[in-house]
Amino acid sequence: MCGIVGYLGKKPASSIILNGLKGLEYRGYDSAGIATIEYGKLVISKRAGKVADLEKIISHANLHSTIGIGHTRWATHGEPNDINAHPHTDSSGTIALIHNGIIENYLTIKKKLLSDGYTFTSDTDSEVLAVFIGDIYNRTKDLELSVRLALNEIDGTFGIVVISTHEPDTLIAARRGSPIVLGIGDNEYIVASDASAIIEHTRQVIYLSDNEMAVINRDNYTTKTIANETTTGEIHEIEFDLQSIQKGNYEHFMLKEIYEQPSTFRDAMRGRLLVEEGNVKLGGLRNVADKLRNARRIIFLACGTSWHSALVGEYMIERLAQIPVEVEYASEFRYRSPIIYPDDVIIAISQSGETADTLAALREAKLKGATVLGIVNVVGSSIARETDAGIYSHAGPEIGVASTKAFTSQLAVLSLLALYLGRTRNVSSVEGKRIAEALLAIPEKIQYILEHAEQIHEIAKEYSNAQNFLYLGRGYNFPVALEGALKLKKK
Ligand code: GLU
Repeated sequence: MCGIVGYLGKKPASSIILNGLKGLEYRGYDSAGIATIEYGKLVISKRAGKVADLEKIISHANLHSTIGIGHTRWATHGEPNDINAHPHTDSSGTIALIHNGIIENYLTIKKKLLSDGYTFTSDTDSEVLAVFIGDIYNRTKDLELSVRLALNEIDGTFGIVVISTHEPDTLIAARRGSPIVLGIGDNEYIVASDASAIIEHTRQVIYLSDNEMAVINRDNYTTKTIANETTTGEIHEIEFDLQSIQKGNYEHFMLKEIYEQPSTFRDAMRGRLLVEEGNVKLGGLRNVADKLRNARRIIFLACGTSWHSALVGEYMIERLAQIPVEVEYASEFRYRSPIIYPDDVIIAISQSGETADTLAALREAKLKGATVLGIVNVVGSSIARETDAGIYSHAGPEIGVASTKAFTSQLAVLSLLALYLGRTRNVSSVEGKRIAEALLAIPEKIQYILEHAEQIHEIAKEYSNAQNFLYLGRGYNFPVALEGALKLKKK
């Protein structure tokens, strides 16, 4: 799942889209492409390689259009090459589409289209969707309807944006399982897979829900489900600032985010610790306070780094609140037949709030009637919206692929949760105060470690050629050792 940017406004679309794609490069990709409508015709430039390579071709293309779409691809179907890069078009070359995700039933649809005489140029599942939309358009002559009807036949995940020369002032975006954010600016709209590609233009955004689409025209837009029911399209304000998605003077984002930890840890606790009472105030849990007080069991659902923080959470909650806790790998949970009791509380943990397995697992738990909470970082993300209540970790955007500050912020939030639950059970105010004070002292301790980075550097140099590392840890440090090992495995 990679990067999507679409633009409709008054400015030249290509440079805005290229900039947006650059902002999404950190997610990794293998090819990039862009489509605009120039004097009534689709102009598509795409190639394997970097956005900078795409920029070189585009600089000769003389693009003026104020509508366009751009994509960075992470190949799932068909190798990373120029032809498989997005955008893809329908067979008439009048409808262009960019797609994140996987069309699971693309082969069935492709076979049908082949038997109807259509041909394909790429190996992708995405082109099948483009040709399918075009096929329906030939009959309906209505772009929105064609997109809707096509999407209703699709199994799998998609974040798409579509433009067409038939309706050169319309941008259509839709999602299922792959995020799409619509930014509403002054006489302009920018659609992206991630709010960080939008913030330069506007802070007013709508996060599309699964099976929701936005139909955007020059002076208005509507949101609806792909079954054509109108939706409210609630407008949110992006909370982070531009600086938080820029590298500043750091060599890379991961380093910047490591250094942000004293403040991100503090931000996770801000306004939540009641030191004198030895207690915690978590506004996001207000409507589930009774459920939590009476919880017989807590089940954490998470993957990767979040799974490690859940393990730390398990130890803390069992110790302070004496509530049995289970930590489930979300991908396993969703494919089992998990037993869930009415007084279980399920907590999904995810930095992005979009982790597909965690989202699917929480939906499974919800279906079984469980109370489902979320601990997520990205405000307005799917997990945040689909849970009954939750706690934001407030770490700010995490751009580095290897999680750092998001992990420690999750630990901060889990400590707060453990103390909160402990106080509803057997932790006294004196003990609570001691824990609250210890938590407040942590940012300074992180700061102290960072100030001695030189020593860490020396150790790293000494062992940089080692073939194997063994991380040892007991108790709380066992999951931390797992997380440390995970960090070293990533390159
Ligand atoms: N499945 C599509 C492809 O292989 C989209 C990949 C992506 O999400 O970037 O082209």
